[in-house]
Amino acid sequence: MKQMYCPKGHGAMEPKKKHRTIPFRGIELKITEDAFVCPVCQLIAGTVESAGKIQQTIADTYRKQTGLLTGEEIKRLRHDKGITQADLAAISGFGVASIKRWETGAIQTQSADKTLRLHLLDNCIENTMTGNRDLSIPRIKLVASAFERELGRAIIIAGDKMLFAAKYLWYADMMAKKELGRSMTGATYACLQYGPQLNNYKDLLEDIQNADTSKAESLSDSELNIIHRIGRRFPEDQMVYDASHKEPAWLETRNGELISYLWAEKLVAIID
Ligand SMILES: [Zn+2]
Repeated sequence: MKQMYCPKGHGAMEPKKKHRTIPFRGIELKITEDAFVCPVCQLIAGTVESAGKIQQTIADTYRKQTGLLTGEEIKRLRHDKGITQADLAAISGFGVASIKRWETGAIQTQSADKTLRLHLLDNCIENTMTGNRDLSIPRIKLVASAFERELGRAIIIAGDKMLFAAKYLWYADMMAKKELGRSMTGATYACLQYGPQLNNYKDLLEDIQNADTSKAESLSDSELNIIHRIGRRFPEDQMVYDASHKEPAWLETRNGELISYLWAEKLVAIID
């Protein structure tokens, strides 16, 4: 902080933490501001910095006193998860602009706070079978199409058993759960003899082919990046097939049972 001098000519003023109580949204906020006090005449002067920060101080104090996440907390939790503002927007359904505003001082509603916590805190209620997302068949088609562009060939084929497509989708969902906290499609996977398979794939194939992708939330850059890395790692069907058979997720889940997304943390394939 810069030095300040008393306007009445008493020389250097001393930096002090100034406490005051202000009414805000029906409660009394106890805020602390940086200020300068003249040791001679006790004149108090705010600083340019403190004047600029006052809105944020009020917002954060309000959030602290009412049990909402503060801007700093949202930012820290997001960094802890290793995700960008755009990633958080994609997984939570909020706009990036809202995430930015909340991180820099705007106050989120109680319900927005609950949603943010759901996506930012690990000890929240998790759905380990869907990877924290409701099943979206249009999204399965979006992810499969992204793989088809990446691989330069079709992976969803009429009458096909999705033997290989399901493994690409499974890696995409598991990697998204691991890196972004949420699967891409919300699909559940069964542990079958030939590897991880979309649960009820026989009933889903036609729906996937006919799905209207305009109804699906589009894939985020982080999701597309995961698909790109998987495509680069497994350019051939046989490679993704073989890799999935080395995964503890498949080896240690009993035949016919669903594969938990908790295995996402223990993938052995190196997809970087
Ligand atoms: Zn003075």
